[in-house]
Order: sequence, then structure tokens, then C-alpha cells
Amino acid sequence: MATEISIQNSKKRYTHGKQFKRVAYLVFGILVAFTFFFGMLNYAQGLNYSGFFSFVLSFAYTIAGYIFIFKRKILLATLITYLSLLCILPVAIYLEGIMSGHHLYFFTMIFAIPFIIKREKRYEKYTKALYVLTFIFIIVSSVVSPMYTNVYPELTQNATHGKLMINTVVCFFIIIFFSFIVLKRGEIFVKSIVKQKQRAEDEKSSRTRVLSNLGHELRTQVNSINGVTQLILDEDTTPSEQKRYLSTLDYCNNNMLSLVNDMLDLHKIEEGKFELFLESKNLFDIVNNSTIAFENLIYEKKLEFISEIDPQLKHINVRVDGVRLTQVLHNLLSNAVKYTKQGSIIFKTEVQQVSNDNIDVRFSIKDSGIGIAKEDIDRIFDSFQQIKTEDSPIYGGTGLGLAITKTIVEKMNSTIHVNSAVNKGSEFYFTISFDIDANSFSNSSTVSSDAKELKFLKGKHILVVEDNPISMLFTNKLLTKYGATTYQAVNGLEAVERVKQEHTKLDLVLLDLEMPKMTGFEAITPIKDIAPNLTVVAFSANVPDQQLLQKLKYFGFDEILSKPFKKEELIDTLNRCLPVTNTNDVVLK
Ligand code: ADP
Repeated sequence: MATEISIQNSKKRYTHGKQFKRVAYLVFGILVAFTFFFGMLNYAQGLNYSGFFSFVLSFAYTIAGYIFIFKRKILLATLITYLSLLCILPVAIYLEGIMSGHHLYFFTMIFAIPFIIKREKRYEKYTKALYVLTFIFIIVSSVVSPMYTNVYPELTQNATHGKLMINTVVCFFIIIFFSFIVLKRGEIFVKSIVKQKQRAEDEKSSRTRVLSNLGHELRTQVNSINGVTQLILDEDTTPSEQKRYLSTLDYCNNNMLSLVNDMLDLHKIEEGKFELFLESKNLFDIVNNSTIAFENLIYEKKLEFISEIDPQLKHINVRVDGVRLTQVLHNLLSNAVKYTKQGSIIFKTEVQQVSNDNIDVRFSIKDSGIGIAKEDIDRIFDSFQQIKTEDSPIYGGTGLGLAITKTIVEKMNSTIHVNSAVNKGSEFYFTISFDIDANSFSNSSTVSSDAKELKFLKGKHILVVEDNPISMLFTNKLLTKYGATTYQAVNGLEAVERVKQEHTKLDLVLLDLEMPKMTGFEAITPIKDIAPNLTVVAFSANVPDQQLLQKLKYFGFDEILSKPFKKEELIDTLNRCLPVTNTNDVVLK
């Protein structure tokens, strides 16, 4: 780290030094050359003293230039230049008249030097003092100069006087002009510094806010973990309660992990070490799986969710960093859900163009949420930026998600765009061109291979009765994945209604036992009354004991499945319960 800083500093000094020398060579070069040139001119015109003094002056300028450039003593060099002028010029003017005052014009260059080279405020004081002295000098030299010259005998006193006035006025205005330019540049410079400082302060306060957000979010998770751990350690907890607590722990851990991952990603981005790892993957699977984590939340918020994935993607494997693409989709979907109170979220994955080697896919996530004001749109992709709204505290977050998303999309050689209007919603979209993996024109991963073994679910109609949205989601996903058609009900009352409507199609009912309004035990009787041969499997959060099994049998349940269950357990149970052929052997009442 220390080495990096010193390298950066030395680089800065080097660039600055180069510029410094270039300007100084130019200014002193012009100064020496012109003074020398005027010396020659004076000699040619017979002004021998002026010629001699001009050569002395050009010598003094050379010494001043040396001190200025190589010794870096800016003020000393300016002083030498100025003093030599101040001593020599009045003498030359006194001896040979006002025409020797040509040198006055060069003052302006000398006074601009400190500003031109450094453009720093601290030189302003010295430069102002030099301006005042110069002005006095002009007046004094005009007074001491005899109003005649031997070289221009034809000039009357009035004509000489007129030349003096022109000389003085021109010199004065040039000085004023230079002062204006130099002070203006100084002002621009100071303004830009103030702006930079403001930006740095803004970034610092954003960072502080994000760190405090991060701290808050991490503390919340840690608190939950502590609380739940205490509950598990409590001897009174039953194994099923423990399972629930452990899933809470799992949830908090995942949250913490994603916060820490965001911080690490940001660090990688800032260090320029963010890289993709391309593998051959099925894009359909990546996109399809990316929505699972949000379906529960979408269900709870009662949002409409439409996910359209181009079916062409099922049959193509592409070179992609699946983890990073999932991260992008997760960030965008999570924002869409977070910033949408009502309405819909539409997630589309469309194939735009296919060639032998490439496939262009457009991803878009559109919500009907709070939207983003036009003036804020550019900021949302910056790290630590969160747009303040009246009710912003309820949204939480860190302001890192979109910055990371943008970097990943750019790494994938694309650009993320957003269309948004306040209170109307937002649409984030980008198109990525993937290399097709020619060796693996496979089908969409596990679905197809498993599906062969799970043909028994194809075409089946299953009613899932469950008040827990996660469990409902998981079951639904699994069943539809293997070709079953599902119906949903969140309590016993709804379940009975559903059976009334769909009993001709239904093959099986998965019925939760503990539900609000009407429990599974209360619902089974009317269900069996409507369709006595309909298979009903009990979902239960309790570990089944002999007593429960007898009770279930008594009420007419065909099977029991303990929650939470694994995919294999559900499939196993259904395999045992479902009729082999899809016959509607439901007896009507
Ligand atoms: P955060 O953790 O705050 O969500 P992000 O980087 O993901 O951080 O988003 C930055 C800001 O952009 C958010 O704070 C929010 O103000 C705005 N934003 C992002 N997505 C949306 C969206 N879909 N609708 C409205 N505002 C959004």
C-alpha cells in the first residue's frame, strides 16, 4: 500500500515538474530574447546606454530564470527580474529619453509568472504588491525622463510627451488585462477545488451513511441469530420448532452473507480485480431459478408476477458466469419487489438474434413501483447512492446493489439502461451477447433428465392447500416443474370451494392440517363428501406419532407428509399415492 502511494506521488510531481519547466522556459526565453533584441535595436538607433542596459537586463533575466527553473525559488526570481528592471530602466530613460521605456511592456509577463506556473491563491498577495510598485514605477519613470531626445531631434516636447502617455496607457491596460485573466483563472481554479471538496464530502457522508446502514442490517441479523439460538438451546423446544428456528437462522445467515459479499464485491471493483468465470451453462435454468427466491415475497405483497423466458433458450448452452448473472437478476428483481407496493412485476428474457456462434439475449425487469425522478437516474448506479424519498427509511438497503450490477453487466460487454417515471414504475434492461457452447446443445439441465423418471406427475391435477407461502411456493414449483397442474387454496374453506369446482379434474389434494379459518381436519370431511375417492395427503408440521396416524386414518386421509420436507420426500409420497393412469375416478355425490 505504502509503495503504491509513493509511486502515485512521484508520478504527480513528475508531471507537475514537466509542465512547470515548459512554461518557465517559454516565459524567460521570450523575456531574454526580446530584451536582447531591443538592446540591438537601441544600438542601431544610437541609443548606446539603452542598448548596454538592455544587455545587462537580459543577463539579469537569465540569472533569474535559472533561479526560477532550477532552484524553484519563484519569488526570489521574480524579485531579481523586477529589481533589475527597476534600477536600470529609470537610468536609461534619464540618459536617453522616454523611448527607452519600451521595456515597460514586458512587466506584464513577469507579473503573470507566479500565477501561470502555480495558480495558487498564496501568490496573490505578492503579485498585487508588484502591480502597485509597477504602477508607481511608470509614474516615476515618466517624471524623471527628460522630455527630449538627441536621437529624435525632430520630435517636439509635445510629441514626446504624447508618446510617453501612449506608452504609459498601453502598459497600464496590458497590466490590467493580464490581472483580469490571471485572477479569473485563479477564481476558476478555486471554484473547481471547492467543488472537488464538496464532492469528496458528499461521498464521505454517503459512505458514513452506508456504513451505518450496513451496521444496522448486520446487527439486525446477528440479533435474530442470537435470539433464535437461545430458543434452540431452551430445553422446552420440540424438534419441529427447532427446524423452524434453524430455517430462520439459515435466512439470517444468507442475508448476512449477501451483505458481506456486497462489501467484498465493492472492494474487488475498487481494486480493479473484479473478474468473471465463464462456464457452459443453460441460460433457461439460470433465469428460471433466479425468481424462486422472490416468489414468496411477491405472494405476500400480493403483486402480480409475470416471468417470460424464451423457450429457445432451453436447448442451448452458453458460456456464462452463472453466479454473476444470477446476482444481477437478483439485485434487479429484489429492487423491483422492494420498491413496488402494488401492481405488477414483469420479467422478460427474450432472444434477439441467434447465429452459429452467438446468441443475443435481452433481459428486462419492469415494475409498477415508486419510480425514479429524472434528475436521480444518473446517480443510482453510483456506489452508496440511495435516492431519498419521503418514506425512504422503510426501504432499507445499502445503495451498493446497482453499482455492482452495473459493473457485472459491463464486464459482460453490455450496458444497463433504465426507463423510469415517478409513481409509474421503472424498467431496467440490458442485452448480452453470449458465446454458444457448440459441444453441448443440451436440454435444460436437471428438468429433462428427472422428468423422464417423474412421468407419473405429467398431466396430473393437484390441489395444494397451505397457508405458509414458502411451503406453497416450493410445492407448487416442484409439481409444475414435472408437468402437473396445480390449484391453490390457503385455508380449509377455500379448499372445499376448490374441490367443489374442480373435482372432475383433481387427482390429489395436499392438505395442511394447521390453517386459519378451517383446519385440515375440519376440511377433509366435506372434501371426502364431494369426492370420496380423491386422494388426500396431510401436510403436518408435527412429527407423526401413533396417535396422530390413527386420527388421520379415522378422518379419511390417505397419507401424511411431515413439514418441512425435501423434494425427494414429496415425490416419493406422491408416487405412492397417485393413480398410475390419469383416470378421473372421482365419484360424484
Ligand atoms: P439499495 O440497497 O438502496 O436498493 P441499489 O444500488 O440497489 O441500493 O439502488 C440504489 C437506489 O436506486 C435505491 O436506493 C433506490 O432509490 C433506487 N432504485 C433502484 N431500483 C429501483 C426501482 N426498481 N424502483 C425505484 N427506485 C429504485
